[in-house]
Amino acid sequence: MTARSLLAYVNGAFVPADQPVISAHDYGFLYGDGVFEGIRVYDGRPFKLPEHLRRLIDSQRIVGLRATRTVAELSNIVQETCAANQRAISYLRLTVTRGPGPIALDPTAPPQPTIVCLPAEMVPFPPSVLQHGLRVIVAATRRTSPSALSPRAKTLNYLNNAMAKLEALHRGAGDALMLGDHGFVTEASSSNVFVLSNGALRTPPPSAGILLGITRDVILSLAHDLGVPAKEEMLTRDDLYTADECFLTGTASEIVPVIEIDSRPVGPGAPGPLTGRLAGLYRELTRSS
Ligand code: PMP
Repeated sequence: MTARSLLAYVNGAFVPADQPVISAHDYGFLYGDGVFEGIRVYDGRPFKLPEHLRRLIDSQRIVGLRATRTVAELSNIVQETCAANQRAISYLRLTVTRGPGPIALDPTAPPQPTIVCLPAEMVPFPPSVLQHGLRVIVAATRRTSPSALSPRAKTLNYLNNAMAKLEALHRGAGDALMLGDHGFVTEASSSNVFVLSNGALRTPPPSAGILLGITRDVILSLAHDLGVPAKEEMLTRDDLYTADECFLTGTASEIVPVIEIDSRPVGPGAPGPLTGRLAGLYRELTRSS
């Protein structure tokens, strides 16, 4: 099935995914005024759907976007989109915007939110990256401050992330890690970050100003099962440079080994054994549930 024939859910109807059906007056388009979830689909089944829908609702609450669909209704929309595309898809992007309104900014004006469930067959990184690892930089672009817009809400405002990623690509790296207001590590442009040092796994806490990643949670519980000490801790740039292993986690990319940070090799400059072990366990989990 090609991208042309994929079917997207838009406000109650299924339409060809490549057909423009969203108003240019939509506040998601005009102002980035909306929230979304990226959901992986394995063998026709959306992975961790309740967790994604919970986070979507939380994001809506944080930005004051009223919920017009229950969790059960949103779940049906996702399941119907999977069914409409006959197992061919690997990713769904569920977006809720404030809806179409006047160009002059008035977030009380849109009468009805826009809801889109867009399917895709996407691979964020080629298999060679998952196998051999990724080079990353620490971006000059700082993560949006929680005092300006909570990174906990997964909003359509990804310009901050896009600018950090742009820096990485311009410097010949694959992705960017971002520091927060106070110089502590937050996350990558679209994934969370973990380091292994002295036998303990560490990842920034929610108070660092991060998206509370669903994959991050899975990794924390897999580490627990393996008996590997894992803690949420503020990390400095030096903690990145001195790590024995480092990896990124995200729904789309799963577990991505990091082999170099700002031109410094991580450990021996190859994906670490714990990273490989966790990636394997994550793969088993996603393919079996
Ligand atoms: N941080 C950011 C900024 C992201 O966009 C994502 C991807 N949704 C993540 C972290 C990872 O979150 P999850 O594991 O829930 O996909």
